[in-house]
Amino acid sequence: MSLLKLTADAIVIGSGPGGATVARELSRAGKKVIILDKGADHRGRIYYGTYPGAMIYSDKMSLLFTKEGLNIISPIMVGGATSMYCGCAAVPPVWLKKRYRIDIDNEVNETIQELNIQPLLPQLRGIASTRIAQAAIQLGYEWYPQPKFMNPERSKNFHCTAACMLGCRCGAKWNAAEWVDEALEAGAALYTHVKVKKILHDGRSVQGVEGSAGGKNFIAHAPYVVVAAGGIGSPRLLQASGFKDAGKGMTMDVTVMVYGTISDKGIGKEPPMTWSWENDADGYMLSTLIDPWLLYPLAAVRVGVKPLLQWFQWNHILGVMIKLKDDITGGVYSDGTISKPLTQKDKERLAKARAVSEAILKKAGAPASSIFMRPLIGTHPSGTVRVGDMLDTNLRTKIDGLYVCDASTFPESLDRPTVLTIIGLGKRLAKHLIKKR
Ligand SMILES: Cc1cc2nc3c(=O)[nH]c(=O)nc-3n(C[C@H](O)[C@H](O)[C@H](O)COP(=O)(O)OP(=O)(O)OC[C@H]3O[C@@H](n4cnc5c(N)ncnc54)[C@H](O)[C@@H]3O)c2cc1C
Repeated sequence: MSLLKLTADAIVIGSGPGGATVARELSRAGKKVIILDKGADHRGRIYYGTYPGAMIYSDKMSLLFTKEGLNIISPIMVGGATSMYCGCAAVPPVWLKKRYRIDIDNEVNETIQELNIQPLLPQLRGIASTRIAQAAIQLGYEWYPQPKFMNPERSKNFHCTAACMLGCRCGAKWNAAEWVDEALEAGAALYTHVKVKKILHDGRSVQGVEGSAGGKNFIAHAPYVVVAAGGIGSPRLLQASGFKDAGKGMTMDVTVMVYGTISDKGIGKEPPMTWSWENDADGYMLSTLIDPWLLYPLAAVRVGVKPLLQWFQWNHILGVMIKLKDDITGGVYSDGTISKPLTQKDKERLAKARAVSEAILKKAGAPASSIFMRPLIGTHPSGTVRVGDMLDTNLRTKIDGLYVCDASTFPESLDRPTVLTIIGLGKRLAKHLIKKR
């Protein structure tokens, strides 16, 4: 079998926000960049942003579970998880700079300007979502309109609902795939359906990567390799390349929705996460959110018959989403399994967040009898190749030229939307690499 050989200044593995940002910045600086992604570019396909689509492009057809039963949605495609995210933007937590000396303020501010990140206009935040936020504010919690990577003016027919988590069909939501496009315009090359299997190195310096595409093996050489295959993909690739500690322990911003029903219309036909509130002291974040209509019964049935029957009132449901600042536990294992047990502290965080969510829903008009919590899910697999443990503050591994730039690098649970922080890290890493040569 002939072996395809490629060479570049930098190889970027993965095209989510981490990989897309580094690739775009390096290409614009005149570097020869190769982007390799295991998935395909599904944008514009008839199924993009539909339920069958979500099954086509999510790992294990959306049925990826941890050993403890947490469902993880992990899109394998150009743009990575930004193809299915809620489009929320959060500035990095202050502890990133204080505890880990990672200062990405300039890069984050530049991104906020460039992508026009701001909350949706009041009339687009949703009547029921705003009702939840007002109830919370009346109870003394400082909910705020959530800044978004979402600009309705980019769309001819802005129509964002819970289903926008299947993929954005109206075009309002920014997707990292757009920065892949810009990297290509600046000269980068993108290879899709490519599974990178191993990083090539001699124990001191990186040499390139080895993988397969369309049944053919290939080798690509470069003095810099940036692993950006996400919180699950990156540790797996590093494990296969001799990094035994990769994937030991992980964070997930363990997530769950608390639901209650009202007689007026609920939040199902409103954009996701238009209002939020962070309680850093108690380690959780709350936002407005509901499962998309067809996914709702899959979650509700695991709680009981009564919650399942509320499916018929789906458009009358109010949902408060809890994101926990979970401790580092479990991990991503080389046998393909993932584990994410909750610690006692996590359970205490969850109990506090649940009590506040229930109080807010009652204040917003949901009878106590209608309130229930769905099973936990894992929306932000991260912290599997942590700064401080496996990476220095420049995101470099112990191997010269080998860097990691994605959610796996987080030293602790971010407990808030990840993408703006990942972009900030990507821009800073690109500057670092450009300066080096
Ligand atoms: C439903 C949902 C809603 C979310 N909402 C928000 C939100 O509103 N705001 C926010 O900030 N965050 C949100 N997130 C989280 C956010 O989208 C992710 O944390 C973020 O995209 C992670 O970026 P990344 O670069 O680490 O990896 P990913 O986006 O996961 O990208 C990894 C890429 O690597 C590729 N890959 C994997 N393995 C290999 C391999 N071996 N070889 C080649 N390529 C490989 C994949 O195909 C993928 O393109 C949400 C996530 C989900 C699932």
